[in-house]
Amino acid sequence: MASGANRNGMHKGTVKPPSAANSSNLKSSSFKPRLPPSNQSPGSALRRTNSASFTAAARDDGVPGRVRVAVRLRPRNAEELVADADFADCVELQPELKRLKLRKNNWDSETYEFDEVLTEFASQKRVYEVVAKPVVESVLDGYNGTVMAYGQTGTGKTFTLGRLGEEDTSARGIMVRSMEEILANVSLETDSVTVSYLQLYMEAIQDLLDPANDNISIVEDPKTGDVSLPGATHVEIRDEHSFLELLRLGEAHRIAANTKLNTESSRSHAILMVHVKRSVLGAEDAIPSEIDKSSHFVKPPKPLVRKSKLVLVDLAGSERVHKSGSEGHMLEEAKSINLSLSALGKCINALAENSAHVPVRDSKLTRLLRDSFGGTARTSLIVTIGPSPRHRGETASTILFGQRAMKVENMLRIKEEFDYKSLARRLEIQLDKLIAENERQQKAFDDEVERINLEAQNRVSEVERDFTDALEKERLKCQMEYMESVKKLEEKMIENQRKHGCDGFMNDKCNGKGPGFSIAEDVAEVKKLLEKEINMRKEAEEEAGGAAEILKLQKALEDEGHQKKKLEEEIIILRSQMLQLTFEAEQMRRCLGRGGSGNAHTGLDSPMSQVRDSLNGHKTPVAALFEQVGLQKILALLESEDPNVRIHAVKVVANLAAEEANQERIVEAGGLTSLLMLLRSYEDETVHRVAAGAIANLAMNEANQELIMVQGGISLLSMTASDAEDPQTLRMVAGAIANLCGNDKLQSKLRSEGGIKALLGMVRCGHLDVLSQVARGIANFAKCESRASTNGIKSGRSLLIDDGALPWIVQNANNDSAPIRRHIELALCHLAQHEVNAKDMICGGALWELVRISQDCSREDIRSLARRTLNSSPVFRAEMRRLRIEL
Ligand code: ADP
Ligand code: MG
Repeated sequence: MASGANRNGMHKGTVKPPSAANSSNLKSSSFKPRLPPSNQSPGSALRRTNSASFTAAARDDGVPGRVRVAVRLRPRNAEELVADADFADCVELQPELKRLKLRKNNWDSETYEFDEVLTEFASQKRVYEVVAKPVVESVLDGYNGTVMAYGQTGTGKTFTLGRLGEEDTSARGIMVRSMEEILANVSLETDSVTVSYLQLYMEAIQDLLDPANDNISIVEDPKTGDVSLPGATHVEIRDEHSFLELLRLGEAHRIAANTKLNTESSRSHAILMVHVKRSVLGAEDAIPSEIDKSSHFVKPPKPLVRKSKLVLVDLAGSERVHKSGSEGHMLEEAKSINLSLSALGKCINALAENSAHVPVRDSKLTRLLRDSFGGTARTSLIVTIGPSPRHRGETASTILFGQRAMKVENMLRIKEEFDYKSLARRLEIQLDKLIAENERQQKAFDDEVERINLEAQNRVSEVERDFTDALEKERLKCQMEYMESVKKLEEKMIENQRKHGCDGFMNDKCNGKGPGFSIAEDVAEVKKLLEKEINMRKEAEEEAGGAAEILKLQKALEDEGHQKKKLEEEIIILRSQMLQLTFEAEQMRRCLGRGGSGNAHTGLDSPMSQVRDSLNGHKTPVAALFEQVGLQKILALLESEDPNVRIHAVKVVANLAAEEANQERIVEAGGLTSLLMLLRSYEDETVHRVAAGAIANLAMNEANQELIMVQGGISLLSMTASDAEDPQTLRMVAGAIANLCGNDKLQSKLRSEGGIKALLGMVRCGHLDVLSQVARGIANFAKCESRASTNGIKSGRSLLIDDGALPWIVQNANNDSAPIRRHIELALCHLAQHEVNAKDMICGGALWELVRISQDCSREDIRSLARRTLNSSPVFRAEMRRLRIEL
C-alpha cells in the first residue's frame, strides 16, 4: 500500500490533507468538533490570506476550517450484481483507517485517505451524523454551512441528500435530517427558518418552488461579498411536514433527463438553501459611559441577530460527456452541466494549490458556492462512488476531486448583525416606561408645589391679616391721641382766655410738660408698637417654611417696611401739625397778653419775623419738638416722593427757620441747600411759597445771605418770582430778595443775577404786601449803594436807575400804603444823596417827590433828611431855582 503510493507519483499512496491537525481528526471524527481546531498548520495561514480575497468581510477574523470530505460507496445495484458478477469492486475501503484503495488492476492499487470513509453498509443516519450534523450545528451557531454531494450519476448523491424516507424513516437523507435538527433547535417565536429550492441547469437558475421563475439572478453584496438570490421564492418552514411537502413539490419540478447510465439521475444541480435567522443577546459594554451611569436609562443587552445559511447541493453527475452517450441537444446540455462542474473543479484546484487566481466567476455554480470553498462557511463534501470496475476512471476522478477539496481551507465566521428592529422595539418599550414614570413624578411634583403654595399663601394671608389689624389699631390709637392732644390744647387756650393771663400757661409750657412732652410719650409708644410689630413679623417669618413662603413673607416684610415708613411720615406730619398749632397757640397767647394790640404790624418786618418776634424771648415747645423729631429726618423728608409729605416737611422747616435760635442749625444741617433745591426741582407753588418763606427768614442773617448767593439762590429766587402767580408766594420771594438787598457785598451780584429786575417784575401782581416787600428791597438796596458811594467803593449811577426802577419809585412815592410810601421815601433820599443820580432823578420826576417828602412826610426824620439832601446837591438846587421851588 505504501509502496504503491510511492510508485504512483503525487496521487499515489496516502494523500494527506495539509493540516497537521488532520491526522488527529482522522483518528476520531473530523466532522465532529463544533468549532474548528485552533492549532492550524502554517499552511493554513497562507490559505487564509488567499481566501480572504474570496470571502466576505466579516465581523472578526474567524477561525480556520478546512473543507471536510467523506467518501461513500454505493452498494452494487441489480445490474452490477449481474454484469460485474465476475469482477471485483474497483475500490476497497478501510473505514477504520479512513482509507480507500482504488484498484488499478489486480496487482496495483492507490490508497487515499479521507476525513470519513463510508462503506456500502453505512446507514443514512450515520452518514448524516458524520457528514452533515457538524455543519448543521455550525449553522445553528451562526456560521454558514455547505453540504455537497459530488459523484458520477447513479452513485447515490440524491440518495444521500434528498431521500424523503416517507415509507422508511431510516432512509431519510441529509436534507430532511438537517431540517429536523434545525427545527428542533430554533425558537419559532424569535427565530426564523426559510427555504428556497433551486436548480441550476444549463447555467440558468430555476426556482423549484415556482418553475415559471426560471432565470433568477445572483446578487453579490459588493461590501460583504455575500451571495443571495432575492428573486427566489423563500418559504418559511415551521414544521417538518411542510418542509417535506416543499421538497416533494421541488422534486416534481426538477428536470430529470434520462441518460443511459441511470434513469433516475439528474443532469441539473439541485440547491436547497436554508436561511436561519436567530436572535441572540449580546453582552453589554464592559465599561458603561458616564451618561449611562447617571441616567435612569438601563442599557438593554445588545440585541443581535445571527443570519446563517445552510446550502445543500446535489450536484449533477460528474461523468464525462463522452461516457454519457449524449448527442445533439443532449450534448450541449452535458457541456453546460460540465461547465459548472469543471469550473468548480478549477476553483478547488486553485484553492488547493493556493493559487493567486480563483476563477469563481466562471460559472453560476462557483459564484453560488463562493462562500463554501475558500469562504467563511463550514463545508462538507461527500463524494459518492460506485463499485463497478467499468467506471473506474470516473471513480478515480471523483476521488481526486475529493482529495483536492480536502486541501481547501475556509475561514469560518459568524455573521452577526445588530437587530435594529428588535433594539428599536425594546427601546420603545423602555422609553414608554420612562415617559410614564416621568409623568407620574411630574404630577407628584406639581401636586407638592401646589400644596406648598397653598400653605404659604394661607400663612402669608394670616400674617397680613394680623399685621393689618395691628396697623389699624395703631392708626386709631394715634388718631385718638392726636385728637386728645388737640382737645387739651383747646381747653387750655380757653382757660387762658378766661384768666387773661399767661403765667400759668407759660409755666406749664416751660416746665417741659407741654404738648411736646405728651407727643414724645406718644411717639415712644408708637415706636414700641412698631417694634412689637416687627417682632411679630419676624416670628411669623420664622414659622413660615419653604422658599415660596419665605419670598411671600419677604414681600409682606417689605410692605410692612413701607407701612412703617408711612407711619413715621404720618407721625412727622402729625408733629408738624402740632407745631403749627403750637405756633398758633403761642401767637394767640401773645395777642391776648397784649390786650388785642397784636394785630398792629410794623410793616417794615419780614412776614416770618412777625412770628419770630412774637416768640422772641420765650422758651417754646418748638425746641423740644425739634429735638424729638430730629432735624435730619425732617430735612430728609423734603425730598420725599410723596408731595404731601414734602409740603408738611417744608412747613415744619419754615416754622423752625422762623426761630432765630434754630437758623444756624438748619443751615449747618444743609437745610438752606435743601430749601433752594425745592425751588429748583419742584413746580408746586405751595412748596415754592413755604420754601421761599423759610429762605426769607434765613436770609435775615448776613452769613446766610452770602450762602444763598454762593448757592445760586439769587437767580433761583428771581426765576421763582417770574413763575409765581400766588401773591403770597411773591410776597415771600420778594421778602427774601429784599433781605438780600440789605447786604453791602451782594450789590453787584444781585443786579447781575436779575434780582432787581425780579423785584420790579413782581409789582405786576399789585398786592400791597408784595409791593411793600419790593419797596423794602429797593430801599435796602439804595441804602447800601449810597453807603458804598459815600465810602468810595462805588462810583457811577445807581444800579437801580440802570435797571429802570426809577419810574416805579416815582410812581409809588406817594402810595396810600404807609409801609410802601415810607420805604420809597427812604430810597429816594438815598438815591438823591449822590450827584451822579441827580440828572436822571430830575428827568424822571423824582425831584418833585423829594420836594413833597421834604414838606409833607409825616415822619419828621425823613422830612428833614429829604430837605438836607436837596439842599446839599448843587444840581437839585439849580433845578429848584430854575423851577422857582423853595423849601
Ligand atoms: P445519483 O443521484 O447520484 O444519480 P441516485 O441517488 O439516484 O444516484 O442513486 C441511484 C440508485 O442507486 C438509486 O436507485 C438509489 O436508490 C440507489 N442507491 C444509491 N445509493 C445507495 C445506497 N447507499 N444504498 C442503497 N441504494 C443506493
Ligand atoms: Mg441524483
